[in-house]
Amino acid sequence: MPKEITTVILKALQFAARKHETQRRKDVAASPYINHPIEVANLLAEVGDVTDVDILVAAILHDTLEDTKTTPEELEQHFGLDVRLIVEGLTDDKQLGKEVRKQLQIKHASRLSGRAKVIKLADKVCNIEDVIERPPADWPLERRKDYLDWTEKVVHGCRGTNALLESCYDQLLKAGRSALHGAPE
Ligand code: ZN
Repeated sequence: MPKEITTVILKALQFAARKHETQRRKDVAASPYINHPIEVANLLAEVGDVTDVDILVAAILHDTLEDTKTTPEELEQHFGLDVRLIVEGLTDDKQLGKEVRKQLQIKHASRLSGRAKVIKLADKVCNIEDVIERPPADWPLERRKDYLDWTEKVVHGCRGTNALLESCYDQLLKAGRSALHGAPE
């Protein structure tokens, strides 16, 4: 792999790890937050066959604007305008309430750039995997099922961009639904 590619990917990992350093996931084990963007980027490369470096870098950084004090200018300065724009497209407006943001994700998905759609797809695969395998400690079964239903609507707007990730999502959704429907309430 050319040196500039490994360098920028490692730089993005270091940047995101520092930005998310005090944050934890909502699972019972309170896993380090950085595990999530790493999983998304890895899924894109391993399952989605994605080799576009800007996509992989933006995947590593995809939650920095939404969940840390990182600014769009900072992303542009370190990783360029293309990466900044992809991450901005994936960032919810935290001024809005949670339900409104969820509705807007459904509404806006189809208008995202192709590169942002691919990351959103991988993000939803990782998110449903978490909700199926290692859900937030305080989520009752109904909330987990509703979450799967919601991701299906967001993913609908991202289809036609990466067949491998779409079929990975479809299989996982199906397996997850049957696991959750068979689970004790
Ligand atoms: Zn994410």
